[in-house]
Amino acid sequence: MSQMITIDNISKWYGDFQVLTDCTTSVAKGEVVVVCGPSGSGKSTLIKCVNALEPFQKGVITVDGVSVGDPSTDLPKLRSRVGMVFQHFELFPHLSIAENLTLAQVKVLGRSMDEARQKGLLYLDRVGLKAHAAKFPGQLSGGQQQRVAIARALSMDPIAMLFDEPTSALDPEMINEVLDVMTGLAQEGMTMMCVTHEMGFARRVANRVIFMDKGQIVEDCDKEAFFGSPRSERAQLFLSKIL
Ligand code: ADP
Ligand code: MG
Repeated sequence: MSQMITIDNISKWYGDFQVLTDCTTSVAKGEVVVVCGPSGSGKSTLIKCVNALEPFQKGVITVDGVSVGDPSTDLPKLRSRVGMVFQHFELFPHLSIAENLTLAQVKVLGRSMDEARQKGLLYLDRVGLKAHAAKFPGQLSGGQQQRVAIARALSMDPIAMLFDEPTSALDPEMINEVLDVMTGLAQEGMTMMCVTHEMGFARRVANRVIFMDKGQIVEDCDKEAFFGSPRSERAQLFLSKIL
């Protein structure tokens, strides 16, 4: 399988504090990898390094063969090709849903307003929210806002999607509507790296599970191995607390 994302021996420091230590993994095209681990273990930092939202001091990350840390890499272009969905939806509150969906397409990709609007509505429809195009984010529920955030990312035609705890800020009854959208994406072959503690989703959808602790990748295995046979004490302890 060809690799979409490679993370090779990444270390990162915030000042004197080493937040990532020699992290190595990869995500193949069409693969879904779930990243889990205790709070503060470096999950968000690792995926932010993938689309260059955070710099790293050591190692190499490539996305579709392009080296993220190479000074000659066009970072805005790279970021536009890797969709990112955060815990807090980060929609623009003063813009309508339709405007939220079109802004980056026009500004970053140079699409015409018409084309951007068409694309935005297509994806809004896909997440089941076409009727809400004229509303503002504050008029939607958390689950709906997160689905808009996913539609916004998809409107950029990303080659991979990164999710950072997309359901952690949601009321329980809204979690599934977001996981269902993510499951659909996975089934269509999207390459995905998902930080989540939704182990039901991991069991159903992931190809691989990565477990991080204290800035290190402690486990990186297919999901059958992760949920089944022996794993590190740290991963067992973590799972016993959240399952
Ligand atoms: P996780 O997503 O697994 O909870 P993070 O990647 O957010 O972990 O954080 C890993 C560690 O790095 C934590 O100890 C956190 O306090 C620290 N950290 C995160 N962001 C910064 C920052 N901008 N400056 C300094 N330390 C940070
Ligand atoms: Mg985090």
